[in-house]
Amino acid sequence: MTRRKKIYEGKAKILYEGPEPGTIVQYFKDDATAFNAQKKATLEGKGVLNNRISEFMMTRLGSIGIANHFIRRLSLREQLVREVEIIPIEVVCRNIVAGSMAQRLGMAEGTPLPRSIIEFYYKKDELGDPMVTEEHISAFNWASTQEMDDILAMTVRVNDFLSGLFAGVGITLVDFKIEFGRVYENEFSRVLLADEISPDSCRLWDTASGEKLDKDRFRRDMGNVIESYTEVARRLGIMKDMPTVIQGGLH
Ligand code: UDP
Repeated sequence: MTRRKKIYEGKAKILYEGPEPGTIVQYFKDDATAFNAQKKATLEGKGVLNNRISEFMMTRLGSIGIANHFIRRLSLREQLVREVEIIPIEVVCRNIVAGSMAQRLGMAEGTPLPRSIIEFYYKKDELGDPMVTEEHISAFNWASTQEMDDILAMTVRVNDFLSGLFAGVGITLVDFKIEFGRVYENEFSRVLLADEISPDSCRLWDTASGEKLDKDRFRRDMGNVIESYTEVARRLGIMKDMPTVIQGGLH
């Protein structure tokens, strides 16, 4: 890793300069954080699982024409992605009430929503990522109206596709968070889906039992975090790509 120049270190990933201009190496750490990094732990194998699960999601989304930053996986913990200018918004899409929505609106977790709801949060750790509206996004020029149209349309497609994909393996997609970036091509810019899609950024419930298979197991001290992420990978049919230490179970 020393040969690469570190560009940015986040809570769960490190970004290094890529081998060619316009590329970045995304390294998935085993670190887990929650509640704006007040809670921290190292979960052995999480980086490997999220790297592979995110590769799978981005590749499948790319195959239905959802433009994203993924180029190829480089190793167990690294993937090559296109360098993008990150749009400082976290886009959350919800199908079932959970997490902050349950708390904010005093609704029972698990209540199905009458329609999918999309929310925006301003990426600012110091402020705990406050919720914002499209008014703030356009007034402060975080994204243009055209970009917001693309982001909304892409988010709806991601939700529909991933909901179906997970439903096919007995998992309910409760909600998820995605991020977008822009790339410049000649005098035009274009929005790409970026960051990651993994059990760190989605709520995934086993459809039959309701069991949580996502980061809430860490947030809520439920245990078996890696086992649950492994179960998601197993259902997606990608465990055969995992190193034997993870295939055999870490504990
Ligand atoms: N989420 C995320 N990163 C964040 C905040 C939320 O990936 O910084 C994901 C979270 O895993 C869930 C969805 O976005 O799938 C909605 O999260 P929520 O607003 O309910 O917040 P939380 O309960 O995680 O605080």
